Amino acid sequence: MDDQHFEQAEEGLDPADWNVLRDMAHRIVDDALAHIRDVRDRPVWAEMPEEVRQSYAAPLPVGPQPLADIYGEVQENLLPYPMGNIHPRFWMWYMGSGSFSGALAEFLSAIDGSNLGGGNNAAALMDLQVVDWLKQMMGFPETASGTLVSGGSMANIIGLTAARNAMAGVDVREEGIGAIPQPLRFYGSDQLHSCHQKAVELLGLGNRALRRVPSDRNLRMDMGALRELIAEDRAKGYRPACVIATAGTVNTGAIDDLPAIRALCDDEGLWFHVDGCIGALIAIAPGNRDLVRGLEAADSLALDPHKWLHVPFEAGCALIRDADRHRQTFAVHPEYLEEKPRGIAATEYLHDYNLQTSRGFRALKVWLTLKEHGVEKFGRLIDQNIAQAAYLAARIEEVPHLELMAPVTINIVCFRFTVPGLSEPDLRELNTEIMLQMQEAGIAALSDTTVAGRHCLRVAICNHRTRRADLDLLVEEVLRIGGDLAV
Ligand SMILES: *Cc1c(COP(=O)(O)O)cnc(C)c1O
Repeated sequence: MDDQHFEQAEEGLDPADWNVLRDMAHRIVDDALAHIRDVRDRPVWAEMPEEVRQSYAAPLPVGPQPLADIYGEVQENLLPYPMGNIHPRFWMWYMGSGSFSGALAEFLSAIDGSNLGGGNNAAALMDLQVVDWLKQMMGFPETASGTLVSGGSMANIIGLTAARNAMAGVDVREEGIGAIPQPLRFYGSDQLHSCHQKAVELLGLGNRALRRVPSDRNLRMDMGALRELIAEDRAKGYRPACVIATAGTVNTGAIDDLPAIRALCDDEGLWFHVDGCIGALIAIAPGNRDLVRGLEAADSLALDPHKWLHVPFEAGCALIRDADRHRQTFAVHPEYLEEKPRGIAATEYLHDYNLQTSRGFRALKVWLTLKEHGVEKFGRLIDQNIAQAAYLAARIEEVPHLELMAPVTINIVCFRFTVPGLSEPDLRELNTEIMLQMQEAGIAALSDTTVAGRHCLRVAICNHRTRRADLDLLVEEVLRIGGDLAV
């Protein structure tokens, strides 16, 4: 290298003037607080004007811009057009509604900046502590292991990978799935979340290896049908490997019979996995925890703190009863990631329990919100959402033109607006239009689904900001829009 090269001024990303950045940061925090505080005064959702859409086609920035200008763009083109799930009348799909403290925690984890692949640092200890707390909340034994992941889909993949490896009958990590002597079969109800299909595809078993067990009148897995499928598969030379029970289905909130499935798995020698992305946290709710009794006996469990704990995305968790099995499924030790007796690498690597190498510091937002409110408060909020769903269901049953479409077990209500004489396709069209008009007017966000072959609107109340008056408004508006459309 020549001398001239050394004479060039070196640079970095820190600001030339920290005071300017500080003023900016304070303004952002003040605005952010108001944004959350005033969420109820805004529409749930708003369609983006063309100029806003166009702003996202702007070219790659080559040179610098003042942070104040960029923040102005965020205020203009981003923050007024969110999905809407932090709003008190957002009940689509299934997700949490966030909190300001959760956002502060996200900020603080980025400030700490640690990579949760592992290491001898406080963030790694906090990560382990949060997993321990979640184990405790679920009634899992202290000896179980767990890992924080991006969400429920990844948590299910972690659990099902451990299940596949445990049940393969060969060293599947070394030999691959081609060496599995008898093709494996997994079982879940026909209400199973779609992430399980991706999981079995990714695990190399193929979608057909995931048998969909018919559900009963209450949308729970039919245990007789499960037994028959297992017997049929054994007779054909397959190896039944794992039952995936759902504690809270995404369509209706139905909870499979967990103790019965545990007993069947014991009889048949199968792995018992619970997809508790919706319902596992009911285990902390004093008024409803009996609904999920039995999940503490799962071999693996997926749960989702970014749903009923309302931490910002992303935060899921996989728990595995047999910690050695968990580690054997994912641990690798390349020469550049050896554990050391002292210093920064004096630790077990957290990535040995996970597919990721670098990992975000997800624990802090769970840790901070659990400490700030206490686990009892979250339990009460879960009970509150379940009571709100029961309240809405009762309103629907007493009002003409509204029809409940599925049993309400927890916080999900499926219903539709009906007009005597309309065909199923006409009712689908009418209800879809009601749903879209409510979204477009920013009144409330519902989604739709099909239950037992019939289309319906779906209200999933995983929202700490929802009040009964919001549900009254929903009923009024469905009747108003439905009435206008039906004449
Ligand atoms: C949400 C959900 C998932 C997927 O979880 P993500 O956090 O969205 O990845 C899986 N199963 C059920 C039952 C769910 O409700």
